[in-house]
Amino acid sequence: MKDCIFCRIVAGQIPSEIVHDDDQALAFQDINPQAPIHLLIIPKRHIDRLSSVTDQEQALAGYLLHLASRLAREKGIADEGFRLVVNSGPKAGQTVFHLHIHLMGGRMFDWPPG
Ligand code: AMP
Ligand code: ZN
Repeated sequence: MKDCIFCRIVAGQIPSEIVHDDDQALAFQDINPQAPIHLLIIPKRHIDRLSSVTDQEQALAGYLLHLASRLAREKGIADEGFRLVVNSGPKAGQTVFHLHIHLMGGRMFDWPPG
């Protein structure tokens, strides 16, 4: 999608610190990290938000979740614990309308979230 910042990252038109790249997904460092480890995991295909995922894209959604878990292990935070966040829609605080999973770790997280 032309004006989507994450599609532009996928296309290599905006620089990012990529930590994982395959045919379906990309993971890169969040530009404004909220934890010592803060990655964003996105589908390469443009999907607006989690609630836009179609029945045909179920496997892709599962793939992204599993990739988040794999990256948590690779980063060494799987045992101590980590937080995944998917903001879906404005009221949840979504600011970039290309589906992404936040993977955060390396510190304690509060519950309930703000
Ligand atoms: P959300 O509020 O859930 O939509 O999260 C969007 C996230 O994207 C925020 O944590 C931003 O810091 C991050 N972000 C925005 N632009 C970029 C960029 N060019 N590269 C990396 N992360 C970005
Ligand atoms: Zn996009």
